[in-house]
Amino acid sequence: MSAPDIDLAAWLRAEVTKDMESAVAKLRRSRMSAGYRRHLVETANRAGAELAILGEHGGEHMCFENTRDGNSWDYYEGDCRVIRQLGYGYRRRPGYREPEWKP
Ligand SMILES: [Zn+2]
Repeated sequence: MSAPDIDLAAWLRAEVTKDMESAVAKLRRSRMSAGYRRHLVETANRAGAELAILGEHGGEHMCFENTRDGNSWDYYEGDCRVIRQLGYGYRRRPGYREPEWKP
């Protein structure tokens, strides 16, 4: 298998940022239903939370790994277990790489 030219964390950060920017841009419109406004606010809030997770796990860091053989801390340069699980929610989007990014 060849090395990917982009890691999951970078791809995910771009996707989540697009979601947040789209929601914020739509919220600037004055006319919309209360339900749609609530959906957009929740989308922006969820994107903010995911960007915070990416901030903690998307770069070089130590991360907890839970395996069949036991639990340990390992060194990662992004794409740890947390990022793979977060990214799996975006698996239907163009650009997601399965199976290499699958948790
Ligand atoms: Zn991590």
